[in-house]
Amino acid sequence: CWARIRARLRDEVGEVEYRTWLRQMTLHGIEGGEAVILLPTRFLRDWVNSHYGDRLRALWQAEDAAVRRVEIRVAAAAEPAMADGPAPAVRAEPAGLAESLAPRPMPPEIRAPEARSDWVAPLEPRFTFDTFVVGKPNEFAHACARRVAERPNSPGFNPLFMYGGVGLGKTHLMHAIAWAIREGDTARTVAYMSAEKFMYRFIAALRSQSTMEFKETLRSVDVLMIDDLQFLIGKDNTQEEFFHTFNALVDQGKQIVVSSDKPPSDLAGIEDRLRTRLGCGMVADLHATTYELRLSILQAKAAAAQVLVPPKVMELLATKITSNVRELEGALNRLVAHANLFGRPITVDSAHEVLHDVLRAHEKRVSIEEIQRKVAEHYNLRLTDMVSARRARNVARPRQVAMYLAKQLTQRSLPEIGRRFGNRDHTTVMHAVSRVSELIIQDAAFAEDVALLRKMLET
Ligand code: ADP
Ligand code: MG
Repeated sequence: CWARIRARLRDEVGEVEYRTWLRQMTLHGIEGGEAVILLPTRFLRDWVNSHYGDRLRALWQAEDAAVRRVEIRVAAAAEPAMADGPAPAVRAEPAGLAESLAPRPMPPEIRAPEARSDWVAPLEPRFTFDTFVVGKPNEFAHACARRVAERPNSPGFNPLFMYGGVGLGKTHLMHAIAWAIREGDTARTVAYMSAEKFMYRFIAALRSQSTMEFKETLRSVDVLMIDDLQFLIGKDNTQEEFFHTFNALVDQGKQIVVSSDKPPSDLAGIEDRLRTRLGCGMVADLHATTYELRLSILQAKAAAAQVLVPPKVMELLATKITSNVRELEGALNRLVAHANLFGRPITVDSAHEVLHDVLRAHEKRVSIEEIQRKVAEHYNLRLTDMVSARRARNVARPRQVAMYLAKQLTQRSLPEIGRRFGNRDHTTVMHAVSRVSELIIQDAAFAEDVALLRKMLET
């Protein structure tokens, strides 16, 4: 009879309206003359209640006179998913892009557990304040995060803008804030998502003509967190949408937390007025780790995993793996896995053996900036020519050489290399790499030049 009621409703309101508002309804059960219907968000519940509540009740009455009341509720939040798992955030979408392209009716018993009452979408259980190791390089950001978690929207802390290089703990701190706020007050809704997901959802909403709901849902949260905001560089429409959401929330006294790989002032390609607003709360940076912090992190992780790691091995890792905490963690995990697998203790020798490749890669790690400096020097250019828009051959070619070397000598991705070369597109980097590879084959003098540069950088 529930299926019939849904079908009737769909006929009455039409396909588009049904998909936008009603598709996610599931029947929780009927008990004591009351039918309970679940929806994933507060916003949807309120909307359906006020716009379709009476109709739903009338339809129930017609189908089954024993049902005297119809109650619409928000489904209880499911357990948080792992950060890398299939993102439940997308499923919370009223009429997601993927689904509108391929309608796929799912039985309520499968859909119900996915529904969640808020948008605390993939939160990593490990990323809490308890597991975050504080040291000089991150103590300020950590203190700000704590403050926001304890008292959202404190004067001067809204927005909280955290920035720093890859793997220094930005996402960890954001999740920690979300967990803490959630723990302190379960009625508070916290929405966490990457800027990329924000854009994806926005576009999906545009395509399915449900931007209204997208806006309303976002604007109904108490805390909004957007991770890796630099992703919005050059994405004008999404930026605009974020700007409006941002203003609406701040005006209502809601807390915003944003992370990025650079400070607001360096976010070239983000509109001025947005940049200004981003920088007008608290700006906290996560500095590169120090040897001491790396050692403390290793000790904490080894203790948490309950494995015995000799101090000499920790010192080796902390000395060699300096780039980011993620890699440090990865190295430790590999050591532990290896020791478990073979039932042997971890020693300095086994560390050298197991981490052979990682340790070697770190020995000759070259930075993009170093490459740009050396190449500019070699061709008698200024460092700024490496990132400028000038296209004259005598500038463009060396720039291509630098991009090529960045691809060869660092582990940076094409988009990242592009960004570091004056915000160029990854296809520009790809083109540079193949052009230089061609020239190396065709032109012996050029090949020698590049080989020389490479040698200078590697030693
Ligand atoms: P970012 O978002 O800045 O790129 P993450 O927050 O994803 O970096 O951190 C990368 C990894 O390093 C995560 O597993 C995180 O738990 C760990 N990590 C980073 N900083 C710390 C820290 N201070 N204490 C404990 N773990 C950390
Ligand atoms: Mg991150």
